[in-house]
Amino acid sequence: ETQRAAVIAAVERVADRMTAEKTYLTELDSAIGDADHGANMARGFEAVREKIADADADADPGDLVKTVGVTLISEVGGASGPLYGGSIMSASTELADGITAESSVAFAEAYLAKVKDRGGAELGAKTMVDALTPAVHTYKKSIETDDLPPLEALAKAVDAAERGVNYTVPLRAQKGRASYLGWRSVGHQDPGATSTLFIMEELLATAE
Ligand code: ADP
Ligand code: MG
Ligand code: MG
Repeated sequence: ETQRAAVIAAVERVADRMTAEKTYLTELDSAIGDADHGANMARGFEAVREKIADADADADPGDLVKTVGVTLISEVGGASGPLYGGSIMSASTELADGITAESSVAFAEAYLAKVKDRGGAELGAKTMVDALTPAVHTYKKSIETDDLPPLEALAKAVDAAERGVNYTVPLRAQKGRASYLGWRSVGHQDPGATSTLFIMEELLATAE
């Protein structure tokens, strides 16, 4: 029950944040894309907020997280809908027995693997992968090697994601719409890496 409440609280915070950052994310996407990333993310997470409220009372945390993914797939088109939604849906199976330090690492790794598999972007292609990769590696290392509590591990992962977002600025985009610009994409921050950071910041704030 507390895990269910935590997932719902996280969804509420993420939906609020996406709605608050709608204009900013769309500005980033207007520089190197088609100016819809903010609208996509806000619409998607507002739909998730409604869907989660109707979820079965006996749904386990994995089922709830799966609902997040399924709803994003159906509400958000473009590149980010299937990448966020499909990867959350697929990784949610790691949470079937509850959210623990161990299962959260498995979820994070499965999520990153799925995003890379679906989108075909490696590190340095100027995508959400550039925020996610350092975040997931830092989270895993903090928990498995440094034995930090999940909250501290997540805080370190957020810092790593932020560095990843900054790292996208000088890169030339190699995937997605921004890649059509070639060298003209250099000097702009990637929208999807930025929304990934914002989501992680809200997960941390929920856990705190
Ligand atoms: P679209 O580009 O279809 O309009 P969005 O604007 O919602 O979709 O999302 C754009 C973001 O999606 C980019 O900033 C980038 O982070 C991410 N993205 C696009 N293509 C890929 C890909 N192949 N792999 C990983 N991320 C990608
Ligand atoms: Mg776009
Ligand atoms: Mg689009």
